Parts: sequence; C-alpha cells; structure tokens
Amino acid sequence: MSTASTNPQTLLRQLPGIDRLLASSELEPVLEAHARKQVVDGLREILDQLRSQAREGLLEMGDLEAGAIRDRLVERLERRATPYYRRVVNATGVVLHTGLGRAPLAAEAVSALTELAPHPQRVEIDLESGTRGGRELGCDLLLRELVGCEKATVVNNNAAATLLILAALARGKRVLLSRGEMVEIGGSFRIPDVMRESGAILVDVGTTNRTHERDYREAIDGQTGMILKVHTSNYRVVGFTSGVEIPALVEIGREHGVPVVHDLGSGCLVDLAAHGRPGEELVSASLEAGADLVCFSGDKLLGGPQAGIIAGSREAVDLCRKHSLFRAMRPGRLVYTALEATLRLYLGGEDEAIRKIPALRWLTATGDDLRSRARSLASRLESLEAFEIEAVECMSQAGSGSLPAREFPSWGLRLVPRAGSAGELAAELRRGEPSILTRVRDDSLLFDMRTLADGDLHDVEQRLRELSAARTATAPTA
Ligand SMILES: *Cc1c(COP(=O)(O)O)cnc(C)c1O
Repeated sequence: MSTASTNPQTLLRQLPGIDRLLASSELEPVLEAHARKQVVDGLREILDQLRSQAREGLLEMGDLEAGAIRDRLVERLERRATPYYRRVVNATGVVLHTGLGRAPLAAEAVSALTELAPHPQRVEIDLESGTRGGRELGCDLLLRELVGCEKATVVNNNAAATLLILAALARGKRVLLSRGEMVEIGGSFRIPDVMRESGAILVDVGTTNRTHERDYREAIDGQTGMILKVHTSNYRVVGFTSGVEIPALVEIGREHGVPVVHDLGSGCLVDLAAHGRPGEELVSASLEAGADLVCFSGDKLLGGPQAGIIAGSREAVDLCRKHSLFRAMRPGRLVYTALEATLRLYLGGEDEAIRKIPALRWLTATGDDLRSRARSLASRLESLEAFEIEAVECMSQAGSGSLPAREFPSWGLRLVPRAGSAGELAAELRRGEPSILTRVRDDSLLFDMRTLADGDLHDVEQRLRELSAARTATAPTA
C-alpha cells in the first residue's frame, strides 16, 4: 500500500480541463493525426479514469502532466485504430485453416474485387434485354462447363447448401444415410441436427464401419425422399470397412425413383492424386456417376471465397433455387465476383489452376522446393544470437476436413529460443505486427514452409531478427 503524498481532493483540483489539453502543444501532433472527435472522446475517457484513480488514491502528480495524458491518449487511439480482421502469417502448415479464413484468394479474384467493389456491377440484370436475369448465372455457366452439371447455384456455405437441399427435396420424407457417414463437422454442423432442422426424417442404414447395398435396399420404401452420401471429411474409419459408392446408390435410387445427393465437403476440381497428394473424389466424378445433386464448399479445395455450391440436374437445382430458404442463404455480390474469378482459373486446365490458386499451389508444393526454401531461410537466420535455428522435415495438413486424417511431408524451420519458453516466443509472434502463427512442439517452434508465401518469408525473417535483437539487448551480459 502506498500512501499518496498528495490528498485526492488536491489532485482532483489539479486535473486539466479538456479545452486546455486540446490547446496544449503536446496534443498538437495528435490532433493532426486523428479526427478531433476521436481525440475529444479519448480525452474524456482518460480524464474519467484519472478521476476515479485519484479517488482510490492511485494517482501520482506526474499522471496529470499533459505529456503523460498524451501518451495514454496515443496508446488508446492506436489500439482502437487496429482493425479486428487483419493479416496473419500462417506458418502452421495447415493449408485450409478455418481460424485463418480457409483459402487465401488468388490474385485474379482479388483484382476482380478491387475492380468491381467500388462500383455498381452486374448481378441480376440481363444486359441484353435490360430485364431481370439470374443472380448466380456467372458462376452457374462456368460450373456447367467445369463439373458437367446441367445447372448450379450458390449459397453462403456448404452447411447452408446441405440444409437447403434437404428442405427442398425431402421435407417430411425419409432420407437414407449410412451410419458411418453420420458425422459432425467443425463442432456446430452435425448431420442429424441439420436433417431435423430441414424437416427431413433421418433413417440410418448399415453399421458404423460397414454398410452394404442390401442395407439401402431393405430401408428404401414409398416414403423415402432421398439417398444422401456425406463425405466423412474430418475422420477416417480404417480396418474392416465398406461403404456404398455413388454408382451403386444411383442404381438403387433409380429403381425406386429416389434422388441421390452427395455432400462432397471439399469439392475438388483437380485430380490431386496425379500431383502426389492423397486422392480426393472429384466433383465431376459424382455427377458423371449419376448423382442428382452434389454440394461442396467454395473455400476448401476449390480455393475461392466462402460459399456453398449446389450442382446437378436442372430439376433438382430449380427445387432448391425456388425454395423460400434460398433467399435467406444467397450470397452478396462480392462472393459471386470472387467465385467467378476463381472458377475462371480452372478453364486453363489443372496446371494453370494449381499455379494460380494459392490453396492448390501450397497443397501440391514439392519437397525439393520446400527444402530449398527452408534451407535458405535457415542460413539467412543462422547468425541470430537468441535462437537456435535449423531446417527440418515436418508434416503438413490440408485442414478443414479436406484429405481427412492424412498428413504429408514438408520442410520447415525449427527454432529453439536460447532463453525463455517456446510458448512465450510463439505468443510474442502471434501478438506482433504482422501476427505470425507457428506450431509449438515441446521446446521449439516450427515454421512450415508450405503455407508461407514469398512475402510471408520476408516478414518472418524480419520479425525474428527484431525479436533476437530485442532479446540480446536486454539479456544480462555474462
Ligand atoms: C466442410 C463440410 C461441410 C460444411 O461446409 P461449410 O462450407 O464449412 O459450411 C459440410 N459437409 C461436409 C462433408 C464438409 O466437409
């Protein structure tokens, strides 16, 4: 307990008024840099704080000086000027990190946004006739070409797509789903819950590890409105397992006039197996096999903005499009714009898509390339005094339930701080500008090269230099 030498009443009387502060030379640069209203609001709040501090006996005479008040004010204004949504350098090696907004957009999608966002743009107007046209037509036409559907539509995310499809095609009807596909994705999306919300009636068939064609045949009846297949995105059942694939489900569905719907989750448009990654079912393969509808996310393997894409037969897509829930799920123009620009990148073939779409580029980056990047960064940082640094092999993940439960080899930078814990250093990196997210393992930090763009590497290097310098400057000399 410190006994204040000056009594609170005296201090309170010394508190400068707002007008005097605003006229002081100390505040001049602050007023030049910030709107007057923000400065006045800030000062009011600080003077209130000072008043209550004085009453509690926690105030010193020095706190009342204009310079001290200015410092508080500047800190407050800077804190408030930092946006919540800001750039993060992803060194975690998780390519589609839901906490970091999943797929980073391709440069082409960003320029489409930059070009169109400040202006009115075509959304629902048919420019030929001047009448109202299809809102999602720009994406629809591209998807027809890219995945081979009759028609497609777009909603806010794949969870919305699933809910809409169930409500539009199977409200009040039975929906057959393998027990092994009754999944929860990301905590808040559970297939049985979505089913109930849609008004469809879940009928689980088979067992957790094995479901056979006969299980569907025995369960199907006159009340069945859909056979649903759900990609078990975030887990894999291994060992004694079997499931029924789309071609067999389509055959059963057709025999009974029941539509087959495939929730693909990620929605892959390029053959990743050909590029050394675990194969993921292609959207076009499900449609070719006869699925009436497929749905998938725009911001997973597709590499675009958050969206849910529904593609399939004209009749089934129209049922979704005309359902009253659609209006509550339709995206804004920024999403259509970024999605169209992303889809266009697939028109030039798989290699071009992989080159231009960051998520695909990161996912398919080769060991040689990652190793040479890790080694060159390690050698540039070798001389830092505060850290022990080396290039190491590591494992990356696709993330967001894409390519489930499979890690693939990568290269990274392993860093051990010579003083303090790895956790403390990770927190410092996370809180800095730009924020850098790493993986912490025991006493070390790992920077996976897979998810770092060239500009990111530069920022990582810069920050580590700064942190090392700050640590060695304050370290006690031996
Ligand atoms: C990710 C996923 C969803 C949810 O998609 P969002 O775009 O995140 O809403 C639904 N189904 C499957 C199979 C998924 O993998």
